[in-house]
Amino acid sequence: AEEALRSSEKLAATGRLAATIAHEINNPLEAVTNFIYLAKTTDGVSDQVRSYLEIADQELGRVSHIARQTLGFYRDSSGPILMSVPDIVQDVVNLYQRKLLYKSLELKLDVQSDLTIRGLAGEMRQVLANLLVNAIDASNDGGRIWIRARRVVDLKTGGKAVRLTVGDSGIGMNEEVRKKLFTPFFTTKSDVGTGLGLWVTRGMVEKAKGRIRVRSRQGIGTVFSMLFPSTKYPPPSVQPA
Ligand code: ADP
Repeated sequence: AEEALRSSEKLAATGRLAATIAHEINNPLEAVTNFIYLAKTTDGVSDQVRSYLEIADQELGRVSHIARQTLGFYRDSSGPILMSVPDIVQDVVNLYQRKLLYKSLELKLDVQSDLTIRGLAGEMRQVLANLLVNAIDASNDGGRIWIRARRVVDLKTGGKAVRLTVGDSGIGMNEEVRKKLFTPFFTTKSDVGTGLGLWVTRGMVEKAKGRIRVRSRQGIGTVFSMLFPSTKYPPPSVQPA
């Protein structure tokens, strides 16, 4: 048991380190990108040098993709706030309109209008973005994706809660993948995957006092379901005197 604990601590530390690095490399990355652009457009640069710079630029693009997929996408300047769930959903959906169109995916939104949850808005966008990107990646052309948000009762606590689900009619996954999916660096996307998306996602969900689980069937699709405490009707005991 001690061994298992040590290895899980090590894994968590590794994931944290990766996330920190992703966060920290964004600014220098942007600077280097700008300097490459400057170099490319400087008078008298030979075609050969220009082609080297082109390659450098592409590789840099790959690095920033990885950074964006983990933590560097959205920044939170303020602390936890009361967020409107429909607004957050819409913000994220707007960002991925082109990607959805490109694969001819049908996105269905079924979001109750007056839902709020408490947390970091940037992180909540990142959570939804990671789940939506995974759903898009898993979809075949013409597939269906849905995002649903409802007020429900948390059967564990008996309290009011908000259920937020992201589902897709994509390739699904087998038992082995399903077991490992929240592990840092676990990916089945050989070239482009970081395996950090869901690990980061679960950390952010838990920070907002939520829980996340997944149901999936190979060839049928996948549903990620999150449950957050509802902030609409705070119990009297937590109201300030
Ligand atoms: P990445 O997307 O970089 O691989 P994630 O942590 O987001 O990292 O996902 C880990 C793995 O979980 C993916 O490589 C994929 O195998 C699986 N996965 C995640 N979401 C889905 C989904 N909606 N449908 C099928 N498989 C998924």
